[in-house]
Amino acid sequence: MSDETVRFDLPQTDIPHQWYNIQADLPRPLPTVLHPGTHQPIGPDDLAPLFPMDLIMQEVSQDRYIDIPDEVREIYKLWRPTPLLRARRLEKALDTPAHIYYKYEGISPSGSHKLNTAVPQAYYNKKAGVQGLTTETGAGQWGTALSQACNFFGLECFVYMVKVSYQQKPYRAAMIRTFGAQVTASPSDTTHAGRGILAQDPNSPGSLGIAISEAVEVAATSGGKYKYALGSVLNHVLTHQTVIGEEALKQMDLAGEYPDVIVAPTGGGSNFAGISLPFIRHNLKDGKRTRILAVEPAACPSLTKGVYAYDFGDTSGMTPLVKMHTLGHTFVPPPFHAGGLRYHGMASIVCELYDQGLIEAQAIPQLETFAAALTFAKAEGIVPAPEAAHGIAGAIREALAAKESGEKRVILINLCGHGHFDMSAYTAYLDGNLNDLEYPDEVFQEALTHLPQI
Ligand SMILES: *Cc1c(COP(=O)(O)O)cnc(C)c1O
Repeated sequence: MSDETVRFDLPQTDIPHQWYNIQADLPRPLPTVLHPGTHQPIGPDDLAPLFPMDLIMQEVSQDRYIDIPDEVREIYKLWRPTPLLRARRLEKALDTPAHIYYKYEGISPSGSHKLNTAVPQAYYNKKAGVQGLTTETGAGQWGTALSQACNFFGLECFVYMVKVSYQQKPYRAAMIRTFGAQVTASPSDTTHAGRGILAQDPNSPGSLGIAISEAVEVAATSGGKYKYALGSVLNHVLTHQTVIGEEALKQMDLAGEYPDVIVAPTGGGSNFAGISLPFIRHNLKDGKRTRILAVEPAACPSLTKGVYAYDFGDTSGMTPLVKMHTLGHTFVPPPFHAGGLRYHGMASIVCELYDQGLIEAQAIPQLETFAAALTFAKAEGIVPAPEAAHGIAGAIREALAAKESGEKRVILINLCGHGHFDMSAYTAYLDGNLNDLEYPDEVFQEALTHLPQI
């Protein structure tokens, strides 16, 4: 084992020059996006109050490849290409014949894959003459990434942070502020949407959907001064993340192997899409047969328990209606859930791939997820973000299945972020204070009764 290569690095010249847009290759086009009020299809102009035209054009683009601007590639050089590692010690700990690889996005300055899209989003907004960006953040990784990206391009940044995260993760808020952004705990009294929620429930812990409502409102009512940025879900965000998979293709080549299965966690779907879309391209066009597995928390199972229907992206019904696997826009994950990935919906691209049978999905409970995180940390020396640990848990299931059947399965994990700001969740697990409570199906059914009638 001592002379095995475990790390496959690419030179800076191998940072991709183009993002991959899977819309060009989807067997069936994405469902139309609808106006929240009229329920009519929306066009680029409807999105113009929120996003710069370059990003809107990427959102609807049917071009297979989109050039990465030089200014963006220059900033990517701060951490890209990210390493691909063979998890030899994890393989040994699991006593599996499987070969396990992980692509490590946690080395980015923000600690996760989110900076891959924050940088181009800030770049295109700056180019369009926008003064600043508003956004929401849950666990804080996206707020950190956007704050850093806005700082690089001289943009103001306003982050609405889900109140319970703001209270539980004060160091995330401090990191976001370090780069100049203003952080507001959501729901807040600074917006109409926030005041409405507080009037109903002064102690609301907040949710991503509520924070999105606040951030969208500030941008939409700013008269064009500010625009809004989203860290996941949208087509252009998933497209930006494909730098992960394009690099991984080259690195698997260096390793002399090709993945039988790719495993990644899914919240809104961006890191999962980032690593898997370039491989799905080869499944669709070159006859490759890689299985693509999305792993979501059992407490927020939008792919495996949601319905495929039109729903709002936020809580108060201000965003366009998108057809997606959703738990209902009023759904809030149960309080016992500590592992992140709390969004009620899922990226349209991921939903279509799932509906067309091109990817698989599994829901994993949090105790198995944290146990997997510890197994991985002890073997490989990296503390994964709890979100990322869902992917690891799915990969461990795959590795144990390979052991069972005695086959050499090549598994590729997207290790999308480190968990250095998640030590309170780890403490809860290590102290034995986490559990997998039964979550009655009625809770899911209740939220689905609030779906808009289309
Ligand atoms: C944001 C985030 C996620 C969830 O978002 P996706 O769009 O599904 O990737 C997962 N892991 C980490 C580390 C994140 O920062």
